[in-house]
Amino acid sequence: MGGETPTDESSQEEAATASAGSSATNESSDASSEAAAIDGTATAEPFTYDDGSVAPGESANIRYGISETYLGDPIRIPVTIINGERPGPTVFLSAAAHGDELNGIEVVREVAHDWNHSELHGTLVCLPVMNVPGFLAQERYLPIYDRDLNRSFPGRQGSTSARRMAHRIFTNFIEPCDLGVDFHTSTRGRTNMLHVRANMDDETVRRLAHAFSSNVIIGGEGPSGTLRREATEAGVPTITVEMGEAHRFQRRLIDRALTGVASVLAEFGCHRDSSVHWPGWRVVIDSDDEKTWLRADAGGIVDMKHGRGALVEEGDVICTITNPFKEEDDILDVEAPFTGLIVGVLENPVVYPGNPLCHLVGLKHETRLALEREGGTERSRSELR
Ligand SMILES: [Zn+2]
Repeated sequence: MGGETPTDESSQEEAATASAGSSATNESSDASSEAAAIDGTATAEPFTYDDGSVAPGESANIRYGISETYLGDPIRIPVTIINGERPGPTVFLSAAAHGDELNGIEVVREVAHDWNHSELHGTLVCLPVMNVPGFLAQERYLPIYDRDLNRSFPGRQGSTSARRMAHRIFTNFIEPCDLGVDFHTSTRGRTNMLHVRANMDDETVRRLAHAFSSNVIIGGEGPSGTLRREATEAGVPTITVEMGEAHRFQRRLIDRALTGVASVLAEFGCHRDSSVHWPGWRVVIDSDDEKTWLRADAGGIVDMKHGRGALVEEGDVICTITNPFKEEDDILDVEAPFTGLIVGVLENPVVYPGNPLCHLVGLKHETRLALEREGGTERSRSELR
């Protein structure tokens, strides 16, 4: 199902990304002069979609039809629109474009239903479950010919079932927005450290990525058809947040993501009583040689020595691959080719040759110093998980 693709976006993205170098930044969020560019309208306006509208000061829970089942029944996605009394940007928060990636669902639900938005400037468009057929089946893809909804944006009328669904979502709930955050997890059987994927060449995307306050940002525009790339190209700067594993709620990651959302809403003036959060250290990865998926050179059973978020030194044994007899001669040590952070890692401990073992991201010396200063080494072994 997930095939050889280590995370949602990685293989194509790694092939496609070849710009700039990594940079370690210590400054807190850079923007403020740019705020005017994405203020939204001067007066609060209704949020309209093709079946209705939500007036300023009102909220609505909508079940919105995007397709039909074999029985002819509607396939409807849950959407919550919260329109503030005061003018400001329109921000979408979306999750479960891959139906088994659950962490983001809880992030979006808590923002929509547990937070107080009485002082909200602007509008929140909350899409906790976009791929409803995949969610019902607890599968990554749309169970209709295994289509990937997150390669089908912006969608098209009169096209495949996936593109029609994507089109309904995109035109009604993405295009009207000023910016967005799309939540994912690693593919089944693997796990990710919480990190942001963002096209750092786009000024507003960069500002959004910084504001989300994750320690790691992986640059690149993303594969064609992904929500973040297509939304960004359509004028709605969007980032992807990758966090943890499929098929579960991971409370610590959900809380960190909620901090990120609060920070974004502060940065763009939606929640003016909260403040932008600085993660303590940050590494921005933009070139191929600073990140790599280490792949197994032998089939076997994997004994992973380090978890998600761990800092490993060049030459450290990351894992061993053994046969069922644990024969000494057949134990293969997999060493770190450079010092870096383990951003993504195998959870299901079995591999064929060529299967991914871990996603290692290199750290520049100064980033590493900042990480150690902030206690990040410790944190990377515990809190960051
Ligand atoms: Zn995903």
